[in-house]
Amino acid sequence: MSRVAVVTGGIGGLGTAMCKALAEQGRRPVAVDFHGLKPEVVDKWKADRKAEGLDIPVYLGDVTNFESCAEVCKKIEAEVGPIEILVNNAGITRDALFHKMTQEQWDQVIKTNLYSVFNMTKQVYEGMTARGWGRIVNISSVNGLKGQAGQTNYSATKAAIYGFNKALAQECIKKGVTVNSISPGYIGTEMVRAIREDVLQKIIATIPAGRLGEPSEIARTVAFLAAEDAGFITGEDITVNGGLYYH
Ligand code: NDP
Repeated sequence: MSRVAVVTGGIGGLGTAMCKALAEQGRRPVAVDFHGLKPEVVDKWKADRKAEGLDIPVYLGDVTNFESCAEVCKKIEAEVGPIEILVNNAGITRDALFHKMTQEQWDQVIKTNLYSVFNMTKQVYEGMTARGWGRIVNISSVNGLKGQAGQTNYSATKAAIYGFNKALAQECIKKGVTVNSISPGYIGTEMVRAIREDVLQKIIATIPAGRLGEPSEIARTVAFLAAEDAGFITGEDITVNGGLYYH
């Protein structure tokens, strides 16, 4: 069914693959991305999708800001249709060892990775439960599961997602809404591929699969959790990390 699927951070490395996978599934993907993006970046992204035969609208907002999320979601619902699938994918890192971490680094990551989940879910939750169908997919990380030195802020937000899922899942499964997450390992987005070659090789050596993941491998898991017949899976997290770490 052509349900509207909002992907936050939708024009980023993983978000782009998610939009494509949801389109392939017959959904109507809509990318929500950072308001500070230059118009030419957004135009190029849209043109690249057009060249692939996809017409994906992009709405700019700030997921750290409740009012901005309300405004963006209201616009999407008026212009595209009711939001039935929400992928909370926007996320940032501001790494530092804890003794050097500033309050600003802490706040930025908590607001972008965690407040965003509340700010966006809150806008679509009532509609989903009232209509009796919804899929919420939150993007966590292997580093939320296992912890990572230098990422107390990031690991805290990604671990918090598991608690959010499990609590909200109990509140809304009877109303046809599921809440799940995916914890990607190291994925070959531009950002990861830009890591110095020797450092990258050391990281790859720790992955039992012996390679980085592909963005499409995360995206197909999003589509799986957003499927019509995935309504009995809720409060769950799926790791997609090539064997790096398990629940
Ligand atoms: P990207 O940086 O490529 O994409 C993230 C997107 O989110 C960017 O387009 C960014 O915009 C946007 N964004 C950032 N802040 C805001 C904001 N305040 N409001 C709206 N949009 C915002 O990252 P990835 O695609 O690699 O990561 C996507 C998700 O996957 C993240 O949650 C990340 O933590 C998670 N993840 C990624 C892994 C990987 O290996 N890549 C591994 C594990 C988890 P802008 O560029 O303008 O900042």
